[in-house]
Amino acid sequence: MKLKIYRLATVILVTLALALMYIYLRFPELHVYALQKQVEYQNRIAGQESIIDLMRQETDIVTRVGNENLMSQLRVELPSDVSVKDVEVVNDYVNHMIDIRIPGADKSYIYDYPLIGSCDNIIDIRYGVAASTAELAIELDDIYLVEAKNIDRYIYINFLSPKDVYDEIVVVDAGHGGKDVGASSQGVNEKDIDLLITEKMRGYFEQMGEGNAADDFVNQNVTEYMLNDKRIGVFYTRKSDVYIPVQNRSALANALGADLFISVHNNSTASGRMSTINGTEVMYRASDVFGQSKGFAEMCLNALLWNLGSTSKGLVAGDDIYIVRTAEMPVALVEVGFMSNQEELNKLCDDEYQNKTAMSLCEVINSALQIYNNQE
Ligand SMILES: [Zn+2]
Repeated sequence: MKLKIYRLATVILVTLALALMYIYLRFPELHVYALQKQVEYQNRIAGQESIIDLMRQETDIVTRVGNENLMSQLRVELPSDVSVKDVEVVNDYVNHMIDIRIPGADKSYIYDYPLIGSCDNIIDIRYGVAASTAELAIELDDIYLVEAKNIDRYIYINFLSPKDVYDEIVVVDAGHGGKDVGASSQGVNEKDIDLLITEKMRGYFEQMGEGNAADDFVNQNVTEYMLNDKRIGVFYTRKSDVYIPVQNRSALANALGADLFISVHNNSTASGRMSTINGTEVMYRASDVFGQSKGFAEMCLNALLWNLGSTSKGLVAGDDIYIVRTAEMPVALVEVGFMSNQEELNKLCDDEYQNKTAMSLCEVINSALQIYNNQE
C-alpha cells in the first residue's frame, strides 16, 4: 500500500516538474518579463524614475497600440475602489500648481495606474501618499484653468488659458496673511479683517454667478459670472490665512492679464497707538499715464464714503507700494478704515460693516468693467 502511494506521488511530482520545465522552455519570455517588471517596479518605487518620464513611456505605449484616443492633455485612472466623487482637484494658480488628491490610493498607485497624456504644459509631477491619500502635484508652465471630465474609470483633464475662457478678469487681493499680520490693534490683526471682507466679496460674486457657472470646471478658487453677455472670472490671491509674498500678488494679476486689480487693506497710525485719526483712503498708481488707476480708485473711495459714511482720507499716489507700482492694469489699494481708532476698529470688526464694504467694492468693480467695455 505504502509503496503504491510513493509511486503515485513520484509520478505526480515528475509530471509537475516536466510541465513547469515545458512552460519555461516554451515561454522563456514570460519568466524574463516577470523579472524585468519586478526590477523596473523596484526602481520606480525607489524613486529612481521621474513620474513625467513614466508618463511619457506609458503614453507612447498606449498611443502606439492605438486603443486610446487622447481626448485631453491628461488622463488620470482611478483605482477600482475609489469613487470619482472623492477625488479632489485643487488649482493653486498663484504657484502654477494643480493638486489631484485621490483618497485610498497607495504608494504603487502611480505605477499600477500610470498617467497618460501630453506633457506640453507640464514642468514636473511629484507623487506622494499621506494619511492614505495619494497626491499628484503637477507643476505647470503658466496659469491654467482646469477642465475635468469623468468617463468610466478615467478623469480627463484639460488645461485652459484663463484669457480663452473669460472675457474679463478681476483679481481680488486680501492684504497680508500668515506670518505677515499687517496692522495690529487690541488683539485684532489686519490680515483677518482684510480676508473677511474679500471672502464676503466672493460671496457676492458667487451669488451673481449662480446658474451660469460651468459645471465641468473644478476651479474652486475662481468665481465666474455673466455681466452684459461677458463672462467674468474673479481670481483671489488668497482664501485662507497664508503668507503670500507681494511679488506673487502682482505677478498673478499681470500673468492673468487682469482687467482690474483690487487690494483690500486697513490702516493704522505709524506708531500703532490709538488715536482720533480715522477714515477711508484709496491708493492708485500715479505712473498710469491713462489715469485709469486713479479713476478706479476714485470710484472705490466714493462708493465706500457713500455706503459706510466714513471720513475721506482721500486718494493717495501709491507708487511706493510694490503691488501698486508693478500692477500693469488699473489698480486700487483700499484702506477701508483705521484700526488705531477705537470707533472705526469696532465697525471694521462688525459683520454688517464688512458686508457693506464688500458689496460696495463688488458694485464698483462691475461699474468699472462696464465703463471699460463701453470704451473699447
Ligand atoms: Zn495692510
